[in-house]
Amino acid sequence: MQTIRLSELKSQQRPVPLQIRVLKRWILSGKKTKEICYVFVDKHGDAIEATADIDLKDDYEPDIEVHSCYKVTKYIVVDNKSYNPTLKHQASLKIGKKTYFEPFLDKDIPYHFFQFASYDDLDERMKPPKQLTYFIGVVEKNFETTTTTGKTLRKVDLRDENNKPVQLTLWPAKRHLIGGDVKRGDIIAISSAQATQFRDLKQLESTYATDVFINPTFDDIQQHISRLKGINIDILESITQDFVTIQDILNLPFTHGKIKEIQAYRTWFNVKCSECNQQVYKEIQDTVYYVCAHHENIQPKFMYCVNATIVDDSAMTDAMFFNEVMADMLATSCQDMVTLQGYDDPKKPPPQMLSKIGIPMTFNLTVRPDRSIVINKATEEHDKASLTPTNTAKKLNIAPPTPNPKLLSAKRGPSETPGTLHGTGSACNESNLLTMTMKR
Ligand SMILES: [Zn+2]
Repeated sequence: MQTIRLSELKSQQRPVPLQIRVLKRWILSGKKTKEICYVFVDKHGDAIEATADIDLKDDYEPDIEVHSCYKVTKYIVVDNKSYNPTLKHQASLKIGKKTYFEPFLDKDIPYHFFQFASYDDLDERMKPPKQLTYFIGVVEKNFETTTTTGKTLRKVDLRDENNKPVQLTLWPAKRHLIGGDVKRGDIIAISSAQATQFRDLKQLESTYATDVFINPTFDDIQQHISRLKGINIDILESITQDFVTIQDILNLPFTHGKIKEIQAYRTWFNVKCSECNQQVYKEIQDTVYYVCAHHENIQPKFMYCVNATIVDDSAMTDAMFFNEVMADMLATSCQDMVTLQGYDDPKKPPPQMLSKIGIPMTFNLTVRPDRSIVINKATEEHDKASLTPTNTAKKLNIAPPTPNPKLLSAKRGPSETPGTLHGTGSACNESNLLTMTMKR
């Protein structure tokens, strides 16, 4: 018997047997790693996200099927994702090689899970940790559009139950989920969408995890459907057709700037397995120890991986500082910082790191294909104050309409190898970014 609800699981606890249905499965891909993600639901209707690394060497993937029920044991309970979690939950599950799935039949465990956000919730969802959103609305207009970079997108203008406008944007990988036959007055429920703001309009953009339900008939969401059917959509006019997303315009040079903020909630270091270099997880029983999903008796390796906000006079953006850059900046290895100096809370950056906030710096950076920014080298400008005004004045005129080829080329720090810095996620503590080359 399952003795705990999924909503009650807490990170770092010892695993107890669970009885769940696998609701959905999707893949987060990096250059060298792939992570399989699942949503599990239990008989109470509680849900939790679970992830497993795909080991590319032996193609290991847990033998579990979507929609089937399993008794699950020997999983690891970890903190929920600090960036783009699918569900509001303190914890998520890590599936390791020892995790055991025993199939069983249970008609009482639900086949779907919805946790709809309201229009007013969306502002909060645009802020860290940028939790993904379930949303339901009635279709006002359904059309395709092409971005300035030549991508065809599906756009659907929706109204929520209070007649407020929200626009769905399906990126090419998910565009097929809504066809041209979906018409004004149809009801659409969407899962795991990213809330963003475009001018006056709130958008929900598709992610790897997005599912779409057109005219859903599930019993437990009937009250939403009846309210939506009562909305008079005839009086509505389309909102806007000139779409550019932040990703399309984020294209700033930032050679001179400052760190404005260390995003402490996204953790400032990772812990890797000495055997396979994959992320390991903390368990606390009598003492603290680290477990790898693939190996036993490992040594933890500590690596900086800092999400920061950087600013210059004209703009602000997020940027990643990986291990070597940060070790160089602080003149201390992450291993020493954590184990010798005792700064072992991944959400409390050490004072040496915080003291770098506000110092003028020259950044050597790379804009990755997903438009996230990686700092390759950061040099403090203590002695070069006289240079700054000139550069700043010039910079104010810089607004390149197309990507600067210099930024997109492999302009990396001397110690990094081209081709090792790619990943799809922008949160460093997710395993699709564990492809960093580690040189010690
Ligand atoms: Zn390992």
